[in-house]
Amino acid sequence: MKITKIETIPLRLPFLDPFTIASPSDRSRDYVDTLIIKIHTDEGLFGIGETQAWRRQGSGEHLPNLVKIIKDIFEPLILGKSPFQINQIMGMCEAAVYHSLYAQAAIGDALYDLQGKILGMPVYQLLGGKCRDHIDVGICVPIFKDSKIMLDKADAFFDKGYKHIRIKIGIDPEEDVRNAEIFRKHFGDKVTLRADANAGLHYTEALRLLKKLEDYDFDMIEQLLPLWDLEGMADLARHVCTPLSVDESVSTPESLLDVIKSRAASIVQTKTGKNGGIFYTRKLWDLATTGCMSIFPGNHPTTSVGCAAVTHLAASWPGHIMVGDYQNAIDGVLATDIVKEPLHIHDGMIDIPEGDGLGMELDEDKLKLYRVDE
Ligand SMILES: [Mg+2]
Repeated sequence: MKITKIETIPLRLPFLDPFTIASPSDRSRDYVDTLIIKIHTDEGLFGIGETQAWRRQGSGEHLPNLVKIIKDIFEPLILGKSPFQINQIMGMCEAAVYHSLYAQAAIGDALYDLQGKILGMPVYQLLGGKCRDHIDVGICVPIFKDSKIMLDKADAFFDKGYKHIRIKIGIDPEEDVRNAEIFRKHFGDKVTLRADANAGLHYTEALRLLKKLEDYDFDMIEQLLPLWDLEGMADLARHVCTPLSVDESVSTPESLLDVIKSRAASIVQTKTGKNGGIFYTRKLWDLATTGCMSIFPGNHPTTSVGCAAVTHLAASWPGHIMVGDYQNAIDGVLATDIVKEPLHIHDGMIDIPEGDGLGMELDEDKLKLYRVDE
Protein backbone atom coordinates (compact mmCIF):
# COMPACT_ATOMS: atom_id res chain seq x y z
CA MET A 1 0.00 0.00 0.00
CA LYS A 2 1.37 3.41 -0.97
CA ILE A 3 0.65 6.97 0.09
CA THR A 4 -0.90 8.92 -2.78
CA LYS A 5 -1.93 12.28 -1.35
CA ILE A 6 -2.08 14.49 1.73
CA GLU A 7 -5.28 16.48 2.11
CA THR A 8 -5.26 19.52 4.41
CA ILE A 9 -8.43 20.84 6.07
CA PRO A 10 -7.83 24.11 7.96
CA LEU A 11 -10.57 24.88 10.49
CA ARG A 12 -11.51 27.78 12.76
CA LEU A 13 -13.49 26.52 15.75
CA PRO A 14 -15.20 28.95 18.15
CA PHE A 15 -14.79 28.85 21.93
CA LEU A 16 -17.92 28.97 24.07
CA ASP A 17 -16.36 31.82 26.11
CA PRO A 18 -13.29 33.94 25.33
CA PHE A 19 -10.24 31.87 26.31
CA THR A 20 -7.93 34.15 28.29
CA ILE A 21 -4.41 33.24 29.40
CA ALA A 22 -1.34 35.23 30.44
CA SER A 23 0.19 34.99 26.98
CA PRO A 24 1.92 38.16 25.79
CA SER A 25 0.17 37.86 22.40
CA ASP A 26 -3.42 36.93 21.63
CA ARG A 27 -4.21 37.14 25.34
CA SER A 28 -7.93 36.59 24.88
CA ARG A 29 -9.02 34.30 22.07
CA ASP A 30 -12.44 33.66 20.55
CA TYR A 31 -11.47 30.64 18.47
CA VAL A 32 -8.77 28.07 17.85
CA ASP A 33 -7.30 27.50 14.40
CA THR A 34 -6.74 23.80 13.97
CA LEU A 35 -5.66 21.67 11.04
CA ILE A 36 -6.96 18.23 10.16
CA ILE A 37 -5.07 16.24 7.56
CA LYS A 38 -5.91 13.06 5.70
CA ILE A 39 -3.12 10.86 4.36
CA HIS A 40 -4.62 8.94 1.45
CA THR A 41 -3.44 5.64 -0.04
CA ASP A 42 -3.80 3.83 -3.35
CA GLU A 43 -6.19 1.35 -1.72
CA GLY A 44 -8.75 3.91 -0.60
CA LEU A 45 -7.90 3.94 3.10
CA PHE A 46 -6.86 7.20 4.73
CA GLY A 47 -5.47 8.21 8.12
CA ILE A 48 -6.34 11.41 10.00
CA GLY A 49 -4.21 13.64 12.19
CA GLU A 50 -4.60 17.03 13.87
CA THR A 51 -2.36 19.92 14.81
CA GLN A 52 -3.04 23.48 15.90
CA ALA A 53 -1.98 26.89 14.67
CA TRP A 54 -1.25 28.27 18.14
CA ARG A 55 0.60 31.46 18.93
CA ARG A 56 2.27 32.23 22.23
CA GLN A 57 5.80 32.03 23.61
CA GLY A 58 7.42 29.06 21.92
CA SER A 59 5.00 28.75 19.01
CA GLY A 60 4.18 31.05 16.12
CA GLU A 61 1.99 28.91 13.96
CA HIS A 62 -0.56 30.08 11.40
CA LEU A 63 -2.81 27.80 9.36
CA PRO A 64 -1.45 28.87 5.93
CA ASN A 65 2.13 28.13 7.09
CA LEU A 66 1.19 24.68 8.33
CA VAL A 67 -0.68 23.89 5.12
CA LYS A 68 2.22 25.15 2.98
CA ILE A 69 4.85 23.11 4.83
CA ILE A 70 2.72 19.97 4.62
CA LYS A 71 1.59 20.37 1.01
CA ASP A 72 4.68 21.93 -0.61
CA ILE A 73 7.47 20.26 1.35
CA PHE A 74 6.27 17.14 3.16
CA GLU A 75 3.86 15.74 0.57
CA PRO A 76 6.44 15.34 -2.23
CA LEU A 77 8.73 13.52 0.21
CA ILE A 78 6.03 11.16 1.39
CA LEU A 79 4.27 10.21 -1.85
CA GLY A 80 4.86 6.57 -2.77
CA LYS A 81 6.04 5.56 0.70
CA SER A 82 4.41 2.84 2.75
CA PRO A 83 2.36 4.12 5.73
CA PHE A 84 4.52 1.84 7.88
CA GLN A 85 7.74 3.74 7.07
CA ILE A 86 7.01 6.18 9.88
CA ASN A 87 10.61 6.42 11.13
CA GLN A 88 11.92 7.29 7.70
CA ILE A 89 9.06 9.68 6.93
CA MET A 90 9.40 11.57 10.22
CA GLY A 91 13.17 11.74 9.75
CA MET A 92 12.74 13.18 6.26
CA CYS A 93 10.24 15.78 7.46
CA GLU A 94 12.57 16.86 10.27
CA ALA A 95 15.50 17.08 7.89
CA ALA A 96 13.44 19.08 5.40
CA VAL A 97 12.07 21.64 7.90
CA TYR A 98 14.08 21.65 11.12
CA HIS A 99 11.92 21.39 14.25
CA SER A 100 8.66 21.90 12.36
CA LEU A 101 7.00 19.94 15.15
CA TYR A 102 3.49 21.35 14.77
CA ALA A 103 3.37 20.31 11.10
CA GLN A 104 5.04 16.97 11.80
CA ALA A 105 2.50 16.23 14.58
CA ALA A 106 -0.34 15.88 12.07
CA ILE A 107 1.77 13.68 9.77
CA GLY A 108 2.89 11.22 12.44
CA ASP A 109 -0.51 10.90 14.08
CA ALA A 110 -2.21 10.39 10.70
CA LEU A 111 0.31 7.64 9.90
CA TYR A 112 -0.48 5.88 13.18
CA ASP A 113 -4.21 6.21 12.44
CA LEU A 114 -3.65 4.79 8.97
CA GLN A 115 -1.51 1.90 10.23
CA GLY A 116 -4.24 1.00 12.74
CA LYS A 117 -6.89 1.07 10.03
CA ILE A 118 -4.79 -1.16 7.76
CA LEU A 119 -4.11 -3.69 10.53
CA GLY A 120 -7.59 -3.44 12.08
CA MET A 121 -6.41 -2.40 15.54
CA PRO A 122 -6.40 0.65 17.82
CA VAL A 123 -3.30 2.88 17.88
CA TYR A 124 -2.51 1.87 21.47
CA GLN A 125 -1.77 -1.63 20.17
CA LEU A 126 0.79 -0.22 17.75
CA LEU A 127 2.42 1.55 20.69
CA GLY A 128 2.86 -1.63 22.69
CA GLY A 129 -0.59 -2.44 24.05
CA LYS A 130 -2.91 -1.11 26.72
CA CYS A 131 -1.48 -0.43 30.20
CA ARG A 132 -4.67 1.11 31.70
CA ASP A 133 -8.39 0.80 31.06
CA HIS A 134 -9.22 4.50 31.12
CA ILE A 135 -7.41 7.81 31.45
CA ASP A 136 -8.07 10.01 34.50
CA VAL A 137 -8.44 13.66 33.55
CA GLY A 138 -9.00 17.04 35.15
CA ILE A 139 -10.03 20.40 33.74
CA CYS A 140 -8.57 23.83 33.16
CA VAL A 141 -10.33 27.13 33.89
CA PRO A 142 -9.08 30.14 31.90
CA ILE A 143 -8.95 33.64 33.35
CA PHE A 144 -12.18 35.61 33.73
CA LYS A 145 -12.27 39.13 35.16
CA ASP A 146 -14.81 38.03 37.75
CA SER A 147 -13.61 35.28 40.12
CA LYS A 148 -17.22 34.20 40.57
CA ILE A 149 -17.37 33.18 36.91
CA MET A 150 -14.20 31.09 37.29
CA LEU A 151 -15.61 29.43 40.39
CA ASP A 152 -18.98 28.78 38.72
CA LYS A 153 -17.19 27.15 35.78
CA ALA A 154 -15.12 25.00 38.14
CA ASP A 155 -18.22 24.08 40.11
CA ALA A 156 -19.98 22.87 36.98
CA PHE A 157 -16.96 20.73 36.11
CA PHE A 158 -16.79 19.39 39.68
CA ASP A 159 -20.44 18.35 39.38
CA LYS A 160 -19.51 16.43 36.22
CA GLY A 161 -16.97 14.43 38.23
CA TYR A 162 -13.72 16.33 37.72
CA LYS A 163 -11.52 16.45 40.83
CA HIS A 164 -8.41 18.08 39.38
CA ILE A 165 -8.72 21.77 38.55
CA ARG A 166 -5.99 23.84 36.89
CA ILE A 167 -6.58 27.59 36.97
CA LYS A 168 -4.87 30.06 34.69
CA ILE A 169 -2.85 32.75 36.47
CA GLY A 170 -0.09 35.22 35.65
CA ILE A 171 -1.81 38.44 34.59
CA ASP A 172 -2.51 39.94 38.04
CA PRO A 173 -0.70 38.17 40.94
CA GLU A 174 -2.94 39.74 43.58
CA GLU A 175 -5.99 38.43 41.78
CA ASP A 176 -4.28 35.01 41.48
CA VAL A 177 -3.85 34.80 45.26
CA ARG A 178 -7.47 35.84 45.79
CA ASN A 179 -8.63 33.15 43.36
CA ALA A 180 -6.49 30.52 45.10
CA GLU A 181 -8.07 31.44 48.42
CA ILE A 182 -11.59 31.39 46.97
CA PHE A 183 -11.08 28.03 45.27
CA ARG A 184 -9.48 26.34 48.27
CA LYS A 185 -12.12 27.72 50.63
CA HIS A 186 -14.92 26.59 48.33
CA PHE A 187 -13.65 23.09 47.48
CA GLY A 188 -11.65 22.30 50.63
CA ASP A 189 -9.63 19.14 50.07
CA LYS A 190 -12.17 17.70 47.62
CA VAL A 191 -10.09 18.83 44.63
CA THR A 192 -6.45 18.88 43.59
CA LEU A 193 -5.54 22.42 42.58
CA ARG A 194 -2.91 23.37 40.03
CA ALA A 195 -2.13 26.62 38.19
CA ASP A 196 -0.55 27.78 34.94
CA ALA A 197 1.01 31.24 34.42
CA ASN A 198 1.79 30.79 30.69
CA ALA A 199 5.18 32.51 31.03
CA GLY A 200 3.48 35.71 32.18
CA LEU A 201 5.72 36.70 35.12
CA HIS A 202 9.28 37.67 35.89
CA TYR A 203 11.43 36.24 38.63
CA THR A 204 10.72 38.62 41.52
CA GLU A 205 6.95 38.70 41.13
CA ALA A 206 6.88 34.94 40.52
CA LEU A 207 8.76 34.26 43.76
CA ARG A 208 6.44 36.54 45.74
CA LEU A 209 3.40 34.84 44.19
CA LEU A 210 4.73 31.33 44.81
CA LYS A 211 5.41 32.10 48.47
CA LYS A 212 1.82 33.30 48.89
CA LEU A 213 0.34 30.34 47.00
CA GLU A 214 2.13 27.86 49.25
CA ASP A 215 -0.75 28.23 51.72
CA TYR A 216 -3.19 26.72 49.21
CA ASP A 217 -1.54 23.38 48.50
CA PHE A 218 -1.14 23.39 44.70
CA ASP A 219 0.25 20.13 43.34
CA MET A 220 1.74 21.91 40.32
CA ILE A 221 2.39 25.47 39.18
CA GLU A 222 3.30 25.76 35.55
CA GLN A 223 5.58 27.99 33.51
CA LEU A 224 5.83 31.07 35.71
CA LEU A 225 8.75 32.57 33.76
CA PRO A 226 9.64 33.21 30.12
CA LEU A 227 10.56 29.98 28.39
CA TRP A 228 14.29 30.76 28.19
CA ASP A 229 14.74 31.59 31.89
CA LEU A 230 15.60 28.12 33.11
CA GLU A 231 18.06 29.51 35.66
CA GLY A 232 15.27 31.61 37.14
CA MET A 233 12.96 28.59 37.30
CA ALA A 234 15.62 26.48 38.97
CA ASP A 235 16.10 29.23 41.52
CA LEU A 236 12.34 29.39 42.15
CA ALA A 237 12.24 25.62 42.60
CA ARG A 238 14.89 25.85 45.31
CA HIS A 239 12.85 28.42 47.25
CA VAL A 240 9.46 26.65 47.46
CA CYS A 241 8.01 23.19 48.08
CA THR A 242 5.33 23.50 45.39
CA PRO A 243 6.20 21.31 42.38
CA LEU A 244 6.93 23.47 39.34
CA SER A 245 6.11 22.54 35.77
CA VAL A 246 7.35 23.58 32.33
CA ASP A 247 5.25 23.78 29.18
CA GLU A 248 6.32 26.60 26.84
CA SER A 249 9.99 25.80 27.65
CA VAL A 250 9.77 22.31 26.17
CA SER A 251 9.37 21.74 22.45
CA THR A 252 12.11 19.27 21.49
CA PRO A 253 13.93 16.54 23.41
CA GLU A 254 16.93 18.89 23.58
CA SER A 255 14.87 21.55 25.32
CA LEU A 256 13.62 18.99 27.83
CA LEU A 257 17.19 17.86 28.42
CA ASP A 258 18.09 21.48 29.28
CA VAL A 259 15.27 21.54 31.86
CA ILE A 260 16.41 18.26 33.37
CA LYS A 261 20.05 19.35 33.56
CA SER A 262 19.19 22.70 35.12
CA ARG A 263 16.56 21.26 37.48
CA ALA A 264 14.23 24.07 36.39
CA ALA A 265 11.08 21.96 36.98
CA SER A 266 9.98 18.56 38.19
CA ILE A 267 6.97 18.25 35.85
CA VAL A 268 6.65 18.61 32.08
CA GLN A 269 3.39 19.29 30.28
CA THR A 270 3.44 17.83 26.78
CA LYS A 271 1.11 18.60 23.90
CA THR A 272 0.91 16.55 20.75
CA GLY A 273 0.78 19.68 18.57
CA LYS A 274 3.64 21.48 20.30
CA ASN A 275 5.79 18.39 20.66
CA GLY A 276 5.41 16.64 17.29
CA GLY A 277 2.54 14.19 17.76
CA ILE A 278 2.63 10.76 19.34
CA PHE A 279 5.93 9.98 17.60
CA TYR A 280 7.99 12.68 19.34
CA THR A 281 5.87 13.13 22.48
CA ARG A 282 6.56 9.53 23.44
CA LYS A 283 10.29 10.25 23.17
CA LEU A 284 9.78 13.18 25.56
CA TRP A 285 7.96 10.93 28.02
CA ASP A 286 10.87 8.49 27.92
CA LEU A 287 13.35 11.28 28.48
CA ALA A 288 11.27 12.85 31.27
CA THR A 289 11.14 9.49 33.02
CA THR A 290 14.88 9.08 32.73
CA GLY A 291 15.27 12.58 34.12
CA CYS A 292 13.01 11.76 37.11
CA MET A 293 10.35 14.23 36.00
CA SER A 294 6.58 13.73 36.17
CA ILE A 295 4.52 13.75 32.96
CA PHE A 296 1.42 15.92 32.61
CA PRO A 297 -0.53 14.99 29.45
CA GLY A 298 -1.87 18.23 27.99
CA ASN A 299 -2.87 19.76 24.68
CA HIS A 300 -3.75 23.05 23.12
CA PRO A 301 -7.51 23.35 22.63
CA THR A 302 -8.01 20.34 20.38
CA THR A 303 -10.86 18.36 18.83
CA SER A 304 -11.51 14.71 19.60
CA VAL A 305 -8.92 13.76 16.94
CA GLY A 306 -6.01 15.36 18.81
CA CYS A 307 -7.43 14.24 22.16
CA ALA A 308 -7.62 10.66 20.89
CA ALA A 309 -3.91 10.77 20.00
CA VAL A 310 -3.04 11.63 23.61
CA THR A 311 -5.48 9.01 24.88
CA HIS A 312 -3.76 6.22 22.91
CA LEU A 313 -0.33 7.41 23.99
CA ALA A 314 -1.40 7.54 27.64
CA ALA A 315 -3.19 4.19 27.38
CA SER A 316 0.00 2.51 26.20
CA TRP A 317 2.34 4.22 28.67
CA PRO A 318 3.64 1.77 31.28
CA GLY A 319 4.82 4.35 33.78
CA HIS A 320 3.16 6.96 35.98
CA ILE A 321 1.36 9.90 34.42
CA MET A 322 -0.25 12.79 36.26
CA VAL A 323 -3.93 13.55 35.86
CA GLY A 324 -3.75 15.87 32.86
CA ASP A 325 -6.48 17.91 31.20
CA TYR A 326 -5.77 17.43 27.50
CA GLN A 327 -9.45 16.84 26.72
CA ASN A 328 -10.54 20.15 28.21
CA ALA A 329 -11.57 21.70 24.90
CA ILE A 330 -14.07 19.00 24.01
CA ASP A 331 -15.83 19.14 27.36
CA GLY A 332 -16.99 22.70 27.87
CA VAL A 333 -14.45 24.98 26.14
CA LEU A 334 -14.98 24.61 22.37
CA ALA A 335 -18.43 25.24 20.95
CA THR A 336 -18.17 22.22 18.66
CA ASP A 337 -16.33 19.02 17.83
CA ILE A 338 -15.75 17.67 14.33
CA VAL A 339 -16.14 13.92 14.75
CA LYS A 340 -19.27 11.81 14.56
CA GLU A 341 -18.77 10.36 18.03
CA PRO A 342 -16.53 12.39 20.36
CA LEU A 343 -14.35 10.73 22.99
CA HIS A 344 -16.44 9.38 25.83
CA ILE A 345 -15.73 11.33 29.03
CA HIS A 346 -17.45 10.55 32.33
CA ASP A 347 -16.65 10.97 36.03
CA GLY A 348 -13.27 12.56 35.29
CA MET A 349 -12.25 9.67 33.06
CA ILE A 350 -11.85 9.06 29.34
CA ASP A 351 -12.70 5.71 27.84
CA ILE A 352 -10.01 4.43 25.49
CA PRO A 353 -11.32 4.27 21.91
CA GLU A 354 -11.41 0.68 20.67
CA GLY A 355 -12.01 1.39 16.97
CA ASP A 356 -9.31 0.97 14.36
CA GLY A 357 -6.57 3.61 14.36
CA LEU A 358 -7.36 6.60 16.53
CA GLY A 359 -10.97 5.40 16.55
CA MET A 360 -12.38 8.74 15.38
CA GLU A 361 -14.61 9.30 12.35
CA LEU A 362 -14.74 12.81 10.91
CA ASP A 363 -18.08 14.59 10.52
CA GLU A 364 -17.74 15.91 6.98
CA ASP A 365 -20.63 18.39 7.40
CA LYS A 366 -18.85 20.00 10.35
CA LEU A 367 -15.62 20.17 8.37
CA LYS A 368 -17.43 22.04 5.60
CA LEU A 369 -19.03 24.38 8.13
CA TYR A 370 -15.80 25.42 9.88
CA ARG A 371 -13.34 25.21 7.02
CA VAL A 372 -11.54 28.53 6.42
CA ASP A 373 -9.84 28.17 3.04
CA GLU A 374 -12.86 27.83 0.79
MG1 LIG B 1 0.59 25.57 29.96
